[in-house]
Amino acid sequence: MARIETPKRIRGTQDIFGDEQRRFAHVLDTFDRVRRLYCFQRLEIPIFEATGVFARSMGETSDVVSKEMYTFEDRGGDSLTLRPEFTAGIARAYITEGWQQYAPLKLATSGPTFRYERPQKGRFRQFHQIDAEIIGAAEPAADVELLVLADQLLHELGIAEGVTLQLNTLGDAETRDAWRTALVAHFLKHKEMLSEDSQTRLIKNPMRILDSKDPRDRPIADSAPDIDAYLTEEAAAFFKAVTDGLDAAGVKWTRNSRLVRGLDYYRHTAFEFVTDRLGAQGTVLAGGRYDGLIGSLGGTETPGVGWAAGVERLAMLIEEPVAERIEVYVVVEDDHAQHDGVRATAALRRAGFVVALLASGSPRKRFDKAVKANPKSLLSLGFADGSTTTRLKVFDGEGSPIEAVLADLGWS
Ligand code: ATP
Ligand code: MG
Repeated sequence: MARIETPKRIRGTQDIFGDEQRRFAHVLDTFDRVRRLYCFQRLEIPIFEATGVFARSMGETSDVVSKEMYTFEDRGGDSLTLRPEFTAGIARAYITEGWQQYAPLKLATSGPTFRYERPQKGRFRQFHQIDAEIIGAAEPAADVELLVLADQLLHELGIAEGVTLQLNTLGDAETRDAWRTALVAHFLKHKEMLSEDSQTRLIKNPMRILDSKDPRDRPIADSAPDIDAYLTEEAAAFFKAVTDGLDAAGVKWTRNSRLVRGLDYYRHTAFEFVTDRLGAQGTVLAGGRYDGLIGSLGGTETPGVGWAAGVERLAMLIEEPVAERIEVYVVVEDDHAQHDGVRATAALRRAGFVVALLASGSPRKRFDKAVKANPKSLLSLGFADGSTTTRLKVFDGEGSPIEAVLADLGWS
């Protein structure tokens, strides 16, 4: 007989269960709670878009577009791509749905994202992001609000201690052009010593050399000119407003003048929250201002700023959340009480209790098994003189709300 091969999990994907799932859910729950405090509306968008949405907005020379996208042709012959991030899809939705009538819009979303990368600790092919964006707000107060939101999220997750906010400005268009020219001149002087990747970047995307991880590039990147000498008065004032806002809100930050976002439409604020607890996967949350993005997708020029964080990376950093305790464990100790077991369980759940029912296996072992599960209380059902008997044991907390439900059922 031919052996049937068991199916395998696709490389870089995850089956999230148990402790890992509790961590994952805790990150999402906390994000949902905190985004409400900041009045960010929840949004759902498609998992796939026309390939051009990502290719045009993220730029053909970006790592994501040039080598990490899951792109396929559907049955109708259209080129589609599984979302590698949220911002481009949100910008597309803003244009297609005509949301400028609601601007400024504060939006939050989360879900799976896809990148064809080499899987390792904290790096997957299907991973998950949480994402926050403000569209239609040009003022630095929007950047501040997003950063304070990120900071509060990390505090509420209990991981703010080991995570640093690194902040930079990329200035306005004039600043960037001047700085870019200076960078190209600097890199050209050392062209022969740069890595092959960076020699290509020199032509297509010189700013990216600054965040190259290749050791050959590091000394040259580190000795490159800072943006500060090229900042226009306006760009300097914008950056100062952001840092003043962070100081006023009590958010700690450090300047990293090497931090860049490679694409042409990025302006002003760029930031990353970084930890050294995850090895090479140290960036947990990253974002910046993308005032040219919606224009580059064919919409009316609209400013925007946002960030995304990897749910798995955050989940790895937090303390293990405690599993939810069973509030009432209903144990049917005599099989004559089976129906009453079902009845009591249903009534308690309708009254809002977390309830488990044990009515199978050896009757003599059920009680001990339920106690081992460490419930807050235990309702045991027996049978005597032709009717069901009940016994409530409260280990932790208060019994009277449970008794009230039992009284309604005629047990008191
Ligand atoms: P990295 O430098 O680690 O590749 P990135 O710059 O590509 O990160 P962004 O595009 O800024 O990452 O995405 C935002 C966040 O999403 C990252 O800070 C990280 O927490 C998470 N992230 C990105 N790629 C992955 C991945 N392949 N697996 C898990 N999380 C990821
Ligand atoms: Mg990456």
